[in-house]
Amino acid sequence: MNQRRKEIMHELGLMPIWRKKQERISVSIDTNMRSTADIDVLNSHRLDRARKILNLDWPQLKADVESCHACSLSQTRLRTVFGIGDEQAHWLFIGEGPGAREDELGEPFVGQAGKLLDSMLAAIQLKRGHDVYITNIVKCRPPNNRNPEFNEAEQCRPYLERQITLIKPKLIIALGKVAAQNLLTTNDSITNLRGRLHSYLGTPLIVTYHPAYLLRSLMDKSKAWEDLCFAKAAMESLK
Ligand code: URA
Repeated sequence: MNQRRKEIMHELGLMPIWRKKQERISVSIDTNMRSTADIDVLNSHRLDRARKILNLDWPQLKADVESCHACSLSQTRLRTVFGIGDEQAHWLFIGEGPGAREDELGEPFVGQAGKLLDSMLAAIQLKRGHDVYITNIVKCRPPNNRNPEFNEAEQCRPYLERQITLIKPKLIIALGKVAAQNLLTTNDSITNLRGRLHSYLGTPLIVTYHPAYLLRSLMDKSKAWEDLCFAKAAMESLK
């Protein structure tokens, strides 16, 4: 198999099936016209993987993320960035994906944006690791800090869902447009998504600006403050 085709197979999450379904899948990839049967194989593979992940405990889940090659982000990452904090937190903060510093250290929000996130937490009497868990939509750094692509977010979704099931947070805070749009499966603007109580898999969810955006747009810091006050009040009513 040539290198390019290997990459395509990886991206599609087809690698483990390749050996069993070699002929059919190779034809579909070559012609770029996948049959319904191929899509069924692809979907059933994804479903099997998701089912397996949804049964993992914390150590198994962490190990699975560390060895994940379900999408091409695994080829350029230095480290996976699983998430950090109180595994029984009431508060779950979700960003979009690791940046350069996070990729080096394996911890979310450790760069400049992370410092601002810590200040945002402090503003509502919260602290990283204390009743707070922080993670991202994707667990590997997208090259050049581009937004995660649809397939990358989809491949990582079972990990996030399992984290949420294990943590059982009372409230999710989506940090920024990319996280919000992925979680809420919408193209709606952040302006429209802020200020409302949404739900992700039954858990209440509030949208605010991404700290990295706030570093560039100081004017919106006051709006982020409003979001945090809204979140704090929501949490009070949820406890
Ligand atoms: N931005 C994110 O969305 N997540 C991180 O972990 C760091 C920066």
